[in-house]
Amino acid sequence: MTDTHSSDRDAADAGGRSFETIAIHAGNTADPLTGAVVPPIYQVSTYKQDGVGGLRGGYEYSRSANPTRTALEENLAALEGGRRGLAFASGLAAEDCLLRTLLAPGDHVVIPNDAYGGTFRLFAKVVSRWGVEFSVADTSDPAAVRAALTDRTKAIWVETPSNPLLGISDIAALGAVARSAGARLVVDNTFASPYLQQPLALGADVVVHSTTKYMGGHSDVVGGALIVNDPDLGEELAYHQNAMGAVAGPFDAWLVLRGIKTLAVRMDRHSENATRIAEMLSTHPRVTRVLYPGLPEHPGHETAAKQMKAFGGMVSFQVEGGEEAAVAVCDRAKLFTLGESLGGVESLIEHPGRMTHASAAGSPLEVPADLVRLSVGIENSADLLADLRQALG
Ligand SMILES: *Cc1c(COP(=O)(O)O)cnc(C)c1O
Repeated sequence: MTDTHSSDRDAADAGGRSFETIAIHAGNTADPLTGAVVPPIYQVSTYKQDGVGGLRGGYEYSRSANPTRTALEENLAALEGGRRGLAFASGLAAEDCLLRTLLAPGDHVVIPNDAYGGTFRLFAKVVSRWGVEFSVADTSDPAAVRAALTDRTKAIWVETPSNPLLGISDIAALGAVARSAGARLVVDNTFASPYLQQPLALGADVVVHSTTKYMGGHSDVVGGALIVNDPDLGEELAYHQNAMGAVAGPFDAWLVLRGIKTLAVRMDRHSENATRIAEMLSTHPRVTRVLYPGLPEHPGHETAAKQMKAFGGMVSFQVEGGEEAAVAVCDRAKLFTLGESLGGVESLIEHPGRMTHASAAGSPLEVPADLVRLSVGIENSADLLADLRQALG
């Protein structure tokens, strides 16, 4: 694990190593027994003790700790420039653990008006039943977030870029708002990944990931993560992770660790392909609006350019003809697979209003009916452009 808290976007660890190198090596020490260059999948629940309490390497029971998960957790901490990383069974399991660690009945959280539908559902339908209050604010406007604070605000939650509207929030500005209120800034960094954006270095207190997405990168695993710098908060989270039990299993941890090794090259290609697609869409006669932070006309473009290395692989757009037309575009796509989720090497298309964000209908997080969301993969960009052109008709 690294102690670096660098403000450089091309963050380097304490040994001066750069992101691509950390991604491949952090946590990936050769197996002491055999020299295997990749951490083995320790598919095991319990560990032989050398006399009562005589643990080998601290391992006792795999809910508490497992060597494959440890490898991933060290890697995650290093990638985000944090002191502590924790791996969970899903992104929502990580969020649930974080909320139950940070909050008590009567506490208040500011949440974004654009976010992953499941995050909103967790606040609106689950933690609210336990007396946690929340306000919805436009987190792209730090003044709106400040106005939403109460004397019980314990956390400000932000997703940047956001899902599915690709809104951009200024992490450094919101970090200052959070500090002035004695609250913690939580950044869901799923869309950017630590290769493109490093929230802890910008002033965030907690980074959340659905490792299901870009970190895993191959649509073959569901997982989540939390990364923090504050060692006391790290201990509290680890306590709750063990007490609540929604840990990443050894094989899932291994798959995420494997995916991360190619994160940097994948994100470069995702960003290149998405830029080409956003540019094509912005001149297409049937497209009324393109939402991609890489486009100069995007309202968050300048902030994104300041805090991100590139603009990522997610593109949303609105089409002429309303909901039926948007659904028809999704149905006609062939190379873009119609499906939920994102961040894999293969391109996906979906209709957020009826699919990923159906649970936000009627709420302040409801999404436009004519919206289509793309997770742009790393296929050949000419093939992707041709498929979208035919799907738009
Ligand atoms: C998918 C997603 C989540 C939830 O993660 P799961 O692994 O599906 O539980 C949280 N935030 C964002 C931005 C996501 O895209």
